[in-house]
Formats: sequence, structure tokens, C-alpha cells
Amino acid sequence: MNKKERLVAAIENGTVIDHIPADKTYQVMNLLELQSLNTPVTIGNNFVSKKVGKKGIIKVSNKFFSDEEISRLSVVAPKIVLNIIKDYEVVEKKTVETPDELRGIVKCNNPKCITNNEPMETVFHFVDKENGLLKCHYCDKEQDINKVELC
Ligand SMILES: [Zn+2]
Repeated sequence: MNKKERLVAAIENGTVIDHIPADKTYQVMNLLELQSLNTPVTIGNNFVSKKVGKKGIIKVSNKFFSDEEISRLSVVAPKIVLNIIKDYEVVEKKTVETPDELRGIVKCNNPKCITNNEPMETVFHFVDKENGLLKCHYCDKEQDINKVELC
């Protein structure tokens, strides 16, 4: 096995998260709460990718993410592909679906919004998925998904 193959070596069962833009790899970890898992997690970053420039790959053994968990990634990296691995084989590839609603994932950029002044979860609805336009449930302020801050 050469050095590159070893870095991306297969796992027996679990999820390989691929095509993460390199600068988003750590945000993906946070959104999936990988720090709190007890299973082996391998992170590789700055691999060359035709799709996204430099990319990150995260391999998580013995873990399969729910659609709700996967949809959180739409805020940072909608092009991500999750390879579901069973017995060292890719049995399914999942892409990120943009959800209708985001709860507790992004901050409202309106400083007067109640969510910035009370300890509560933010709620956003997509008003335009194509263009990544979100609207705050509480103050109606619209925001561009490319400019939002994560909670
Ligand atoms: Zn708001």
C-alpha cells in the first residue's frame, strides 16, 4: 500500500464523508458532533479534488448518520457525498438534501433578534433553496446561507 492509499484506506463498516471543501472539514465535524463519538474517526484534509479543489475526507467507523444529521451539512458543504460502507464495500452513496427548516444550526444576523438576546434555539426556513436564501422564523430577516455564522 502506498502512502496515499493508506491515508484513504477503507473501513469495514461505517461512513466515509467525501468531497468536503478543505476549509469546511472542521465545521463538518462540529455539525455531526463527531467529537462526542466513541468510535474511531479518521480525518484527512487537503487532498486534491477535481470537484471542490482541496478537499477533506472523514471516515467514521460503525456510525451511520440519520437524514436529519446529514441535512445539517447543507449549510457548509452541500456537495458532500457520504459513502455508506458495509463489509468494506460502498453499499450506498448519500448526498446532502437541503432541509425546509434549520433548527439551532445558524445564528441570526439581526442583533435585535430575540434569538440573539434569549437563550433559545434559532429556527430558519428556506425561502429559496436554489439561491440559499434563509428567513429567520422570529424576526423575518432574510440571510444568505453563504454568509451565515454557525451557532
Ligand atoms: Zn432573527
